[in-house]
Amino acid sequence: MATLNKNNSAVKRIMQEARELANDPSPEYSAAPLEDDIFEWHCTLRGPAGTEFEGGLYHFRILLPAEYPFRPPSLMMLTPNGRFETDTKICISFTSYHEELWQPAWGVRTAIIGLQGFFPLKGKAAVGIGSIEHPTTERKRLAALSRSWVCPHCRESNLDLLPDPVALPDPVAPSSSTESAAPPEPLAAAPVSAPSPDTDSAVVTPLAPNPVATPNPVATPASVHIERVAAPIPRPRTQVISQPRQRPPILLDTAICVILVLVCGIVFRRMF
Ligand SMILES: [Zn+2]
Repeated sequence: MATLNKNNSAVKRIMQEARELANDPSPEYSAAPLEDDIFEWHCTLRGPAGTEFEGGLYHFRILLPAEYPFRPPSLMMLTPNGRFETDTKICISFTSYHEELWQPAWGVRTAIIGLQGFFPLKGKAAVGIGSIEHPTTERKRLAALSRSWVCPHCRESNLDLLPDPVALPDPVAPSSSTESAAPPEPLAAAPVSAPSPDTDSAVVTPLAPNPVATPNPVATPASVHIERVAAPIPRPRTQVISQPRQRPPILLDTAICVILVLVCGIVFRRMF
């Protein structure tokens, strides 16, 4: 650092960006220049959420040219990831492969965010020097391994360099789990408290019979209502069936009576 010419425009710009990144860190990446070479940065980038790289942490080098920011940086992936070759300069629009696309107003932060956006690209959009297209299962496997990957230069794991901001979701998840665990506890506490009143009610007997008596009437009327609803239906049916059975005897009786009257009439006519 002592050999750096702080009047150099590139050095000024790089130190300014380093301060800006240190003062305004992102949960998506951490980046800083090497202590012995301000033109080389090491960055740990979080895999884009919702992709096969989610959960992955990827370490890469950012090489800034002496003409920075008028010439673009170069990126070189270090952590195996299944998307970019390692130890190879990556060809994306803002790197040294495409100097004409680089704008001096951009910076290291722009390059990092841009690289993150290149992770999920597939097909023709993903073609380029340093690009590889490993199967999703392999990318997921590498994403899981990447968290404990240690940079030989930084000598720290990716997870140490970029701890999960999931620190915020984590308390939410445990709290939700505690919430989910909380209901069982009250449920468990309720039966425990219920028997304990029973034991107390053994001393105060009137309290126990009352709660027992109240649930019983509640249950019995319900069952009675059900029985009453079910009972009337069969009863009218049986009555309807029994009525037609009673009609034939009545008709027979009246017919017999009529016949007897006629017979009596005939008998009386013959006698007189
Ligand atoms: Zn490193």
